[in-house]
Amino acid sequence: MYQNKAPSGESAVSIIGAGIAGAWHALLFAQAGHAVTLHERSDAAMTQSTSHWAGGMLAPWCEAETSEPVISRLGIRALDLWRQHFSQTPFNGSLVVAHARDRADFERFARLTTNHRRLDAREVGELEPALEGRFREGLFYPEEGHVEPRRVLPQLHAAIAKAGGVIQFNSDVKLDDLEGIVIDCRGLSARDAQGELRGVKGEMIVVETAEVELARPVRLIHPRFPLYVIPRGDGRFMLGATSIESEDTGVSVRSALELLGAAYVVHPAFGEARIIEFGSGLRPAFPDNLPRIAIEPERIAVNGLYRHGFLLAPALAELTLAYVERGVIDNEVMRCA
Ligand SMILES: Cc1cc2nc3c(=O)[nH]c(=O)nc-3n(C[C@H](O)[C@H](O)[C@H](O)COP(=O)(O)OP(=O)(O)OC[C@H]3O[C@@H](n4cnc5c(N)ncnc54)[C@H](O)[C@@H]3O)c2cc1C
Repeated sequence: MYQNKAPSGESAVSIIGAGIAGAWHALLFAQAGHAVTLHERSDAAMTQSTSHWAGGMLAPWCEAETSEPVISRLGIRALDLWRQHFSQTPFNGSLVVAHARDRADFERFARLTTNHRRLDAREVGELEPALEGRFREGLFYPEEGHVEPRRVLPQLHAAIAKAGGVIQFNSDVKLDDLEGIVIDCRGLSARDAQGELRGVKGEMIVVETAEVELARPVRLIHPRFPLYVIPRGDGRFMLGATSIESEDTGVSVRSALELLGAAYVVHPAFGEARIIEFGSGLRPAFPDNLPRIAIEPERIAVNGLYRHGFLLAPALAELTLAYVERGVIDNEVMRCA
């Protein structure tokens, strides 16, 4: 990091997009005393955002299996910010299990990740009684957390308003219409300004059953993409998520079979669960799948959060704020025009 000339002191800041990136930026800037206006083209239900479809896992150590070290660095910092600003965030850890035939992949996952504890069959049952006798071993990542996107986004929006920020829903704005510092957090819609962005499709299913109780996300090792079951409370579970190089929407039969099959492997009682929802979102990604804060005079674009938006947004917002207030540059994620 080094110090650069900061654009200005405490000034009017317009943020476009109230998904997880824009919401965290609005919160930290409003709390720092800036006059913040957050523009969102959809209504408060946020169904046009990728964030609406996310799992909300805060899992910097598990994600290290497939991610660059910068994701862990920022993710671990972001966990502190989630704790600090949303003290009710559950940090019950994550559990990773595998089907017997995927043992080699399980060992690979263990090798590529850190900050976990190996559990034998008895310990898996002690941690998650519903899984007693189902897996010979597991990996427990005790410091990881998770949020429910559809609950935490409204909480973030409320916190922004409490800190003095203004949120305008149903406000479809253009970058050039806005004065002062503009922070572009439009996700995939920012392709008009950032042509390298692409959408990576993630599919999810929500099911409901009173027969299974889990206290934390359970990941099932899978040779192609990480499959997980996340408890949402009230007997609901999110099954996620595929990762497909396509900007198609909807859920394919093949993906549905894989997601539902994974839940059935985690616990056969999911076979009787009621299907509540099928859905998909497009993760905004750059070619290197890494987040980027692109800086131009008075214009900052924060994008490419890919499959780590909930994990990274607080730390990226903190970096953007440090740049605007003190000119601090983070060489790993910032690009200056
Ligand atoms: C199935 C699935 C599971 C996932 N699971 C996880 C997970 O467990 N953990 C994790 O960290 N990440 C996860 N992700 C990734 C995460 O959802 C994304 O990284 C994140 O949502 C991207 O957030 P964003 O704020 O950049 O974009 P978005 O959430 O898309 O927000 C952009 C917003 O900008 C608004 N907008 C666009 N143009 C305009 C305009 N002109 N004017 C006003 N508003 C505008 C849009 O309406 C939208 O609300 C998952 C994604 C998917 C699809």
